[in-house]
Amino acid sequence: MKLEKLKEEKKKGKITFLLKDSDEVFANTIRRLVMEEVPVLAVEDLEIKDNNSALYDEMVGLRLGLCPIKTDLKSYELKENCKCGGEGCARCELKITLKSGKNGYVYCEDAVSTDPKCTFAYPKMPIVKLLPKQKVEMTLTAVLGKGKDHAKWIPGLAFYKREVNIKVGKVANPEQIVQQCPAPGIFSVKGNKLEVNSDKVHDCQICQKCVELDENISLEETGNFIFSLESWGQLAGKEMLHHAAEILVAKVDEMEKLL
Ligand SMILES: [Zn+2]
Repeated sequence: MKLEKLKEEKKKGKITFLLKDSDEVFANTIRRLVMEEVPVLAVEDLEIKDNNSALYDEMVGLRLGLCPIKTDLKSYELKENCKCGGEGCARCELKITLKSGKNGYVYCEDAVSTDPKCTFAYPKMPIVKLLPKQKVEMTLTAVLGKGKDHAKWIPGLAFYKREVNIKVGKVANPEQIVQQCPAPGIFSVKGNKLEVNSDKVHDCQICQKCVELDENISLEETGNFIFSLESWGQLAGKEMLHHAAEILVAKVDEMEKLL
């Protein structure tokens, strides 16, 4: 198996790579491990001292649960694996306080985390809007969890598609192909001839539209997969992949022991 990095946008937590000499089973295993097994922090409990905002407590709780928290997987442990036996300690719980009485929006940046490395990922994400004399004061407890238990613990998106080569022969109406292709930039017309832009070919959605329009165009599968990861802010794109690989190894080890 070989990996070839195609594109990485570190700030957005996006990474796209080519998976070679592998198969769909493996690609799908990695996809599922990323979305269901790689743990991240999310708010699980609230202790509300004050909330007279328009949103009732449960609504605020739901909103906070879905605000991504930057996750340092070296410092935290899943509750079920923690030495405290699940009672709750600094290894398995992150405390965040949220207190505001100012008129207007309360943002994620107004929350104060006890761990400066693990704060809300998007400072300007609004939590609640306060009118004069309204205030919120609460202590939040975030814990590690898995995406298979609740969507708030999903670290991001993982998806893949097959890589294709686009072969172009003598095309009757090249302009039509350029216009009808849903992924812009793949085709262009040069001197009344249809050309494929090799740097854009990975954007192909394999919709077969061009093949239907002209029989002299063909899509050939290379057998490789274009794999994309998009983080929701808790972990970097690469970290998601790294931890998915670790989990896979651990699962295989466990299976071997059981056999
Ligand atoms: Zn603990």
